Amino acid sequence: MPVIYYEHARRDQMKVALTFDDGPNPPRTDQVIEILNAKNARGTFFVLGKWAERWPQALERIVRNGHVVGNHSYAHHAHVGDFDRAEAAIGNVIGRPTQFLRAHYFNFFTCTNSPIAMSKSMKIVDADVNPADWNKTAPQAIIDATLNHPRLAGGSVIDLHDSSETDDDALRLSRCVPMIEALPAIIDGLHARGFQLVGLDEMEFVDPLEWTPDERGLYASPEMREIVSRR
Ligand SMILES: [Zn+2]
Repeated sequence: MPVIYYEHARRDQMKVALTFDDGPNPPRTDQVIEILNAKNARGTFFVLGKWAERWPQALERIVRNGHVVGNHSYAHHAHVGDFDRAEAAIGNVIGRPTQFLRAHYFNFFTCTNSPIAMSKSMKIVDADVNPADWNKTAPQAIIDATLNHPRLAGGSVIDLHDSSETDDDALRLSRCVPMIEALPAIIDGLHARGFQLVGLDEMEFVDPLEWTPDERGLYASPEMREIVSRR
């Protein structure tokens, strides 16, 4: 069965979505929320089930501040589609199902393991703007990779990381610091171009893409295989 997913919303509306993967990750997630709130922006957080269990209050704070929560697997293991387990962990905290799912490493094969991922009520949302913030240490490099991204336009979905799947607490807390330092300038730059920063629940997704397994491997594109192999 093919996996249907989206990379962006309507291009004729000046809405852009900031998305943050792999959390919650206190206090980093709280720092992101503080910046979003101060700048009148909404965000979407694709969280891991294992972190929802470890830091339920941090997950609650995302919802309480009016931001969107999506499902990004339970353990972020490369070839495991444990989205159903993640959904249970997230639902235990926020008390409702998620509407959006992002495949970890953009490995859509894992979605076929999960009835929840494949259900009609779940929208699988990738991103068309991937600044690879997790791989950069200079905030300015993240700002440039986002604001100068060739696909940035109305309807864009921007993929950033407020956390990481690693159980190494020090690494997880440090890796996303450059992104947080870059975030105010990213938001200001997007606002200056007239974009409204919205949650995924305010977007109208178009141009569905279809993933089917092929002989080249599990990943949707050679570019993604390359990114994953470098991690
Ligand atoms: Zn991830």
